[in-house]
Amino acid sequence: MTHELRLDPLTREWVAIVADRQDRPNLAADRSAGGCPFCVGGLEAPEPYTVRAFENRWPPFRGKDGAAEVVLYSSDHQGSFATIGVPGARAVVDLWAERTEALLARPEIEYVLVFENRGALVGATIPHPHGQIYAFPFVPPVPAREAAVAAEHGCPLCTAVRDEVDAADRVVRDEEGWLTYVPYASGYPYGVVLAPHRHVESLAALDEAGRDGLAAALVDTVARYDRLFDREMPYLMWIHPGVHVHVHFAPPLRSADTPRFVASGELGSGLLGNPVAPETAAEALRALD
Ligand SMILES: [Zn+2]
Ligand SMILES: [Zn+2]
Ligand SMILES: [Zn+2]
Repeated sequence: MTHELRLDPLTREWVAIVADRQDRPNLAADRSAGGCPFCVGGLEAPEPYTVRAFENRWPPFRGKDGAAEVVLYSSDHQGSFATIGVPGARAVVDLWAERTEALLARPEIEYVLVFENRGALVGATIPHPHGQIYAFPFVPPVPAREAAVAAEHGCPLCTAVRDEVDAADRVVRDEEGWLTYVPYASGYPYGVVLAPHRHVESLAALDEAGRDGLAAALVDTVARYDRLFDREMPYLMWIHPGVHVHVHFAPPLRSADTPRFVASGELGSGLLGNPVAPETAAEALRALD
């Protein structure tokens, strides 16, 4: 049982060794609600709820190394952002903002990452709609890189939102102050970014309209994904606060039945190869209105 953060001497980047998590519950193969710890009455949700956050029983790190929480999006076992409606998604956004602020208030926490792994293909072990939160004692490499770029070149999200609206061919949706687009240099087939037109740093800093706009954009994105291949689309999703808050979605499929693996040439070089042109992906997603 080894459980610690280790510094890779080749890259000087941290790796979380999490060798005591193999006994986590795995209900991925079972879509029924029987035995689900997140359904009302289950281990993690004894009382009725709309949305709920709690400490992860199998955290990759804890104590001085950070914290990990689980966020339940709905008490409906079969629910998702595509079905819980804008008020339901808004409740999730509010809980994300609240938990992020609470974790950042701890002296040892430097960065909070909200994310979701949806579907067995990306390792979700419980199908009940939920996401996770990791709180780090340092700013991790990807958001640190985004912040460094912003410091050197100005806010890249403000620029991207303006440029994508002008170019139009990678825009999926532009409503209520939030733009959904396939980035010009997207590394992921059908990957999208959701960003507010206004330069707002964090979820907590979004006003009422900004939060409603994000909720509507989340519902819209997952509904489009589920229609794209006519199946519940697996995806990776994460939210980057810090510079100009934005949401990344990265599905692990290149077509209905073909997984996209990040292969050796990509991992070994750090250069992602996207088999679907961003303009083609945007056109397909836009057409699913
Ligand atoms: Zn459930
Ligand atoms: Zn900005
Ligand atoms: Zn980002």
